[in-house]
This record gives sequence, structure tokens and C-alpha cells, in this order.
Amino acid sequence: MSIQNGYCIIFLIMAALQVICAIVAFKSDKLISNYAGRLNLALAVPLIANVMIIKSGDAGLSSFSYYLSYIGMDLVMVSLINYTNSYCKGVDERRTVIIPYPCYALLIGDMIQILLGPVFHHVMTIETTILDGSDFYRDVTHIGLTVHRIVDYVIFACIIITYVISMIKTSKLYREKYSIILYSLILAGAVQLAFISSRIPIDRSLLVHGAFGVVVFYFSLFHRPLRVMDTLLSNVVSDMNDAVFVFDNANKCVWVNNQGFTMLGLEGGSTRAASEALFEKFKNIKNKGENWIENRIIDNQYFILEKTSVKTDKKYLDGSFLVIKDDTERHNAIEAEIYNSTHDSLTGLYNMSYLYSKIKNELVSSDKKYYAIIINFKNIKLINENFGRAFGDVVLIRMSDWLKTNIKSGVYGRLVGDTFGICMPQDDFDEDFFLKELGNFIIRFKNMEHRSNIHIGVYDIKDKNIDVSVMFDRAHLAIVEIEENYKTVIKYYNEHLKKELLEEQRLVDDFPGALDSNQIVPYLQPIANKDGKIVGAEALARWIHSDLGFLPPDKFIPVFEKNGMITDLDEHIWRQVCKILADWKTTNPDLFISINISPKDFFFTDVVSDIKEMVKEYDIDPYKLRIEITETAMMTDSEDRIRILNDIRSAGFIVEMDDFGSGYSSLNMLKDMPVDVLKLDMKFLSEENNDKSEKIIKNIINLANELDIIPLTEGVETEGQFNQLASMGCVLFQGFHFAKPMLVKEFEEYLV
Ligand code: C2E
Ligand code: CA
Ligand code: CA
Repeated sequence: MSIQNGYCIIFLIMAALQVICAIVAFKSDKLISNYAGRLNLALAVPLIANVMIIKSGDAGLSSFSYYLSYIGMDLVMVSLINYTNSYCKGVDERRTVIIPYPCYALLIGDMIQILLGPVFHHVMTIETTILDGSDFYRDVTHIGLTVHRIVDYVIFACIIITYVISMIKTSKLYREKYSIILYSLILAGAVQLAFISSRIPIDRSLLVHGAFGVVVFYFSLFHRPLRVMDTLLSNVVSDMNDAVFVFDNANKCVWVNNQGFTMLGLEGGSTRAASEALFEKFKNIKNKGENWIENRIIDNQYFILEKTSVKTDKKYLDGSFLVIKDDTERHNAIEAEIYNSTHDSLTGLYNMSYLYSKIKNELVSSDKKYYAIIINFKNIKLINENFGRAFGDVVLIRMSDWLKTNIKSGVYGRLVGDTFGICMPQDDFDEDFFLKELGNFIIRFKNMEHRSNIHIGVYDIKDKNIDVSVMFDRAHLAIVEIEENYKTVIKYYNEHLKKELLEEQRLVDDFPGALDSNQIVPYLQPIANKDGKIVGAEALARWIHSDLGFLPPDKFIPVFEKNGMITDLDEHIWRQVCKILADWKTTNPDLFISINISPKDFFFTDVVSDIKEMVKEYDIDPYKLRIEITETAMMTDSEDRIRILNDIRSAGFIVEMDDFGSGYSSLNMLKDMPVDVLKLDMKFLSEENNDKSEKIIKNIINLANELDIIPLTEGVETEGQFNQLASMGCVLFQGFHFAKPMLVKEFEEYLV
């Protein structure tokens, strides 16, 4: 085969290759491939033109083919400009694209002057030479062709400069993208230059141009993006917070990111060392299979390990990677959150809801018998008020410390405020120990000291299935009963207590209705003078309950004193008594009636203005309404009480000190108390030592008389007692000896 034919075939193959590349490129949806495709098409033109030059056989056709190759070269330049413009702006979206209008103008001008070549013959002429034994038509350069070459090389230089600038201005990662094209261009330009200067027939440099077209096609469409992805991905992995280990298909560690080294305590170093350290730290992970996930705790650190295998065609393993996440921080945060939601922040003990669930578990997992125990500070409110909240907190913390050191079995926690709950096996509960320890619970803080008054309620858990809250409610019921006790005490819940509390609740529920329907009435008990003549009466409340029948005051007064309802009851009785006295104005004008004032009344109402208003309303003499206040009620808050008593007396009422001798009062205080009558109850005197009792009564009576206080003995049951007391100087008498308390109607009949 001749050289000409050889080149023809190669050029044709090259041209075909360009066309194929162009078709593939046009199919891609990337903008750059469009430009690459056009460049390929443009490159096909000079290739085909050169085949025509070789094969032309006459001067005319070869002249046309030369012109075609010059125009083709200009087209290549146009597409190269467009391609370069698109290729070089890609990295930086903000980069403004400068459209090189001068270049386009140059090229268009050049094309026009070439197209005018056949007319003016200023571009080239044809000369004949012998190549390989046959004629070859060669172009002889004139000014037009030189201009054409200068134009192309100027533009070529501009393009080279564009690539160089792009290369400098871009990150290392993208530098290669430009350098490949740049070097290919320089090679093509240099080869072309060599051809032009050598004057060898057949433009061999076209081979390099064709190859350049293929390079452009390949790099624009395939090669670059993949490499960029690789690099980007590996950068992502390097920067990840998790440790990443990459293994090849033989499960050999081939790459470790920085976190991987750090996690293993290595400062860089070889992948091999990292791999060894990895398997040393995380035992038994080497042959665990292809894809798995596992949690590991090592030296209080929490790790999540996830191994993933990669297979390209679903059959052969490409490799795998192991991601190790240090989960310690998140884990600790969750633990802290769980702790906060289950523990009391002040004492660190379980909070109520968590304690209940713990107790439930404990009860079902054991067949021992258990107690639910409530520990309650009687006066934490007072402590807070008197010593400050900080002291109150110290008290609660001290209790939690006590529980921590002394409760060895069962569970305990803080229920609410000053109440702690314990659930412990009955065999381990030592009542005496609790009483001894908590009975002497002294808190010292700064320079303050306080002895706590603690109540302990115990519920014997017979049925482990009932709600834990109910168990503690019952333990709590046991201590409700000891409300007024200022010592540390333990009370057990029992069914009797439950019955009592239910009964109490019933009375509380029925009370308002009972007042409205007058079920609660005053009974009158006569009071006599030393001649046995009835001079007055004491009003004593009775409840004639519609279902329960007759109720004495000890059944309901303590209940109402507990919840404050006593004041409603007392005001009701006082009003009834005022009505009686108003009725008596004509029938029994000389008789008085004493009413009882509960110490609680002073908290809930203004006693003085209440009774003043009532006597005014019923228009009765205040001295007919005598006021009984117990000795203990007078003694608490005595200064304030003395003021009230003075008020009552100055309003004309007569004040009686009730139940003298029942409390801790001293005889000495009698002189300070503004009272008119002293009520001495026989039941407070011991019956065993009659002699001594007699002497005491005698002296009290004497003292009262000397202080101008009228002595009244109540509980006088016999004629003998009456006579004896009278001889001792007692002035007034009350008791079964005269009569029991009775209905008003009965009392009025009794008088006559
Ligand atoms: P108190 O004020 O000391 O009333 C005297 C109590 O002694 C009455 O009991 C009366 O029935 C009883 N008593 C009278 N004579 C004798 C006697 O010879 N022998 C014996 N063993 N007892 C006698 P009662 O009526 O059961 O009242 C008990 C307490 O209930 C009263 O004691 C009083 O503290 C309180 N109370 C009664 N009615 C009222 C009331 O309307 N308001 C308030 N706040 N308390 C009341
Ligand atoms: Ca009384
Ligand atoms: Ca009394």
C-alpha cells in the first residue's frame, strides 16, 4: 500500500472517530460535552479535506480541498474557543465568562479573506511535486495563508493563556483537569508548527489533532468527574468525625482516616500499625462477616461499629469499610437525662414515679413480706419560714443521707416535699431503731440547731398487686391520725383506722347539711350556786344525725377542729344560745349561758366582733353570755390572747377559764389572766390520792377567791362532793349531781 493510501485510511478512521465522539457527546446532557462534540465535528473537517487533497488527482479539486482545510481549521478554532470558555469557568460559578468578540472577529475576517482567495489568488497557489512516484499537489504559501496562520496562532496563544490562568487559579484537585488539555494543545500546536516549517507533503500533524479531539472527548465526559468524586469523597471521609478503616478484598486494611489514628491513640503512622491496633482494641471483629453493626463499651467509652462491604457487580467483593463512631458523649447525655428524669435533684434519691416503678419490680421479684413506710417532717414549712429555705434543704439532704446509710434492703426515695417513702422487707424493719434515730434527728447548720419532729406511717403490704401509690396513701393515712403530736411517732395503718377515717370523712361530708337542717343543737347543763339553786347553764353541742342518731361532741368536735369547720359549728351554737337568751328575757331573766370557744376559732374568725354583733342582733345583755376558753388556749400566744380577753371583758362579757388544771399552767399566771371565772374539772384530779387532791382543790379555790376570780367546779357527781366543795369556798357547781346536759325544752321544764 502507498503512503498516500495509508494516510487516507488513517485520516478517515480519525474523522470517523471524531464523528462517533461527537454523536456520543451530543447525547450527554452535560453542557461541556456539547462543546466537545462540536470541536470533534470541526476537527473532522480538515481530516476529510486532507484525504481529498491526497486523492484529488487534479489542481482544481486539490485547491478546493486546501481552502476547505483552512476554513476547517478556523472552525476548529471557533469551537476550541467555545469549548475552552465553558471548560475553564466550571470551577467557580461566579466567574464571569468573557466572550472573546475580538477573536470571533479575527476568525470571521480570516474566513472571508480565505473565501476570497480563489478570486484574488492571494492565499496560495498550487504546485505539483512527485510523491511516492505519483503527482502530489502542494500549496504554495502567499500572504493570505500567512495571515491565516498568524490569526490561528494568535488565537491558539490566547487559548493556551486561558488554560494556564485557569490552572494557576484553581485548587490542586482541578489543576490536572486543565493541565492535560493544555499539554495536549501545546503538543498539537508544536507538531503543526513543525509540519508547516518542514514543507513535507501530507499534513501529518492532523494525527495529533485527531488524538487531541479524542482526549478532549474523554476528559470532558468520563475521566475527570470520576476522579473528582474520588478525591472529594476521600476528603469527606478524612474530615469525618468518625474513624474510618478501608479494607481490600482480602480484608487487609489499606486506608485509615485521621480520626482512625486518633481513636487508636496513634499519631499518624502506617496503616499496618493502625490495623494491628484496631484488632487489638476491638477484639473478634476480624472475621465477623460482610455487613454488621455492633456496640462496644471499652474503658467507659461507647462505640458503634458498622462494617459495610462493597461489591461492584454483586458477585465479587471490591472491599469493605468499617466506620467506628465514638458515641460516649451522646450516651452520657442520654444517661444524664435518664438520671434527671428519675432522680430528685436536691437529694439525688429516686423521685416518686421512679420509686414506684422500682418498688413494683422489687415486690414481684421477691416473696418476702414488705412494709411501705412514709417518713414525714411535721414542720418543714415552719423550718423554712423560721430558718430559711437553705436550712430546709439541709434537713431534707440530711434525711436522704440517713436513708442512704441506714436502709440496707428494699428501695427508698423522695415522694414529695418533706415526705420520703421506703419499701423494705418486714424482717429488716426495726421499729425501735427508727424511733431512736429519728426521734433524735438534730440538724445543725451554721450556728442554727433544730430537732426535727418526724412522723412515720407504716403500711403492711398484704396484697402486692395493689397500686404502689395506694400503699403509700395508706401509710400516709396512719400519720394523719397523729397530726397534733409533737413527738416522733410510728403509726401503723390498719383496717380500724381506715374505718375511722371513712367515718370522719362521712361526718365532714354531712356537716353542711346538718347545720342547715338544725341537726346540731345546744344541750344545756345546769350550773348551780352553793344553795343548789340553778343560776345558769353551759351550752354543749350535740348532733342528732339523721342516720347515725345521737352523736356526742367527742365524735365530731376533734374532726372539725382538724379541718377548721369547728368555727362554723361554734358560730351556729353561739347563735342558738343567743336565741335562747332572747327567749328567756321574760321567762328566765336572771339565767346566764356559757358558750365554748375553740382555740381554732381565733385563727378562722374575729371572735370578739362575732359575739358582739350577735348580742346586738338579739338585743341581749352581754354578761348573760359567758365565754369559756380553755386554759391551754389562753396560754398559747398568751400576749395576743390577753388582749382579746380584755376586749371581750370590756365589751361586758364574762370570761371563764375552762378545764383549769388540764394543761401545764402555773398558779402564778392566774394573776395575769383577765378572767372572771375559773372552771376546775374534777376529772383532772387524781382519784388515788384523795388527800392530796383535796388540798390542791382547796388551795386553788382559796387562791381564786383571793384574786377575785369566781371558782366553779365541774364534774360534781355526788352530794358529798358538792357539800365538801361548798365548805371549801367554791361558789358555782356543775355536774351530773344536778343534771346531765339536756334539750332546751327539758331544761326549761327542769327549772320549774
Ligand atoms: P367541757 O367544755 O369541759 O364540757 C364539759 C363536759 O363534761 C361535757 O361533756 C359534759 O357533758 C361533761 N360533764 C358534765 N358533768 C359531768 C359529770 O358530772 N361527770 C362527767 N363524767 N362528765 C360531766 P361533753 O358535752 O361531751 O363535751 C365534751 C367537750 O366537748 C367539752 O368539754 C367541750 O370542750 C367540747 N364541746 C362541747 N360542745 C362544744 C361546742 O359547742 N363548741 C366547742 N368548741 N366545744 C364544745
Ligand atoms: Ca366548757
Ligand atoms: Ca370543762
